[in-house]
Amino acid sequence: MVVEMKTNVTPGQVAEVLDHARQLGLSTVLSTGSERTLLGIVNTTADDRMTASFQSLGGVASVFLVRHPYQFVSSDSSVTSTRVRVNDRTIFGGNEIVICAGPCSVESEEQIRATAAAVAGAGASVLRGGAFKPRTSPYSFQGLGADGLNLLRSAADEHGLALVTEVLSVKDVDLVATYADILQVGARNMHNFSLLSELGVVKKPILLKRGISATIDEWLMAAEYIMAAGNHDIILCERGIRSFDAKTRNVLDLAAIPLLRNLTHLPVIVDPSHGTGVRSAVTPMSLAAIAAGADGLIVEVHPEPKNALSDGEQSLYFDQFVQLVSKCSSVAEAVGRKVSEAPHYVLQ
Ligand code: PEP
Ligand code: MN
Repeated sequence: MVVEMKTNVTPGQVAEVLDHARQLGLSTVLSTGSERTLLGIVNTTADDRMTASFQSLGGVASVFLVRHPYQFVSSDSSVTSTRVRVNDRTIFGGNEIVICAGPCSVESEEQIRATAAAVAGAGASVLRGGAFKPRTSPYSFQGLGADGLNLLRSAADEHGLALVTEVLSVKDVDLVATYADILQVGARNMHNFSLLSELGVVKKPILLKRGISATIDEWLMAAEYIMAAGNHDIILCERGIRSFDAKTRNVLDLAAIPLLRNLTHLPVIVDPSHGTGVRSAVTPMSLAAIAAGADGLIVEVHPEPKNALSDGEQSLYFDQFVQLVSKCSSVAEAVGRKVSEAPHYVLQ
């Protein structure tokens, strides 16, 4: 059961609800987000009488019976879809489709500035790029770290783009949060519960990628960790799951999108780059993702994919990305949506 408090709730009213739960012998999880205060009542066989007893308390907006172990994340816990607001122009989960684009890794000032200019010009609203890279081999390029964050931020600001970048470790959360507008949890960290809980207290949106072999329920439970710790601004990202055929890097599970629509109120975007690992498959799968109801895309783009320090084989050339956005706009229109565009300006 989830109790949603009114926006003008007082601490005394929250205490009263907690007290009521305690008197009934129920354990509670309090989640105080930037916009909503929610109270999860864990492990109960709540019935209509119990929900009515909570509903009658001061400061309570609504009470939801939740059928799933992921209480806050479940669509049962909210009457509306969550919109994750990054800034005034960029909102995930509304009618507009948000496109995030940029290199796999930030490699140099020249590379990231050229890419930011190209993706902003083509219509992306969020710059992506890894400064801390989760690489399979410890001998592969690990990213530029703090210097990379600086380069990403300047390149994003130069073109009015928001910035999403991965946080690999609990120790880097504060550092990454000072530069990024959205903190990315990579597939390899989806089960890193201490990192997830730490991100629950960050006041920035979280992009939560699906684990390499995570079920949808495991993925939603990972989101629940973040929400239970207080951060309601989560964007889910389908990035493919591992299977037996090495022709593609992963199998992009687009059926997850309509399934998630019924299970959660959170927005869902798709990563066709890691989802396929194959450059020629990126645009077709982007179009399919939008047709299937995705709220956005995150796409790898590089000025010289052949020389990229990571994931060149799945990175688009600039002109291919221009084509991708134009085709996505047509598909978005066909399904009654539109692609959200960043302002095409350059700060001098
Ligand atoms: C990435 O987006 O940079 C990345 C490493 O993706 P994933 O965690 O999905 O493999
Ligand atoms: Mn990559």
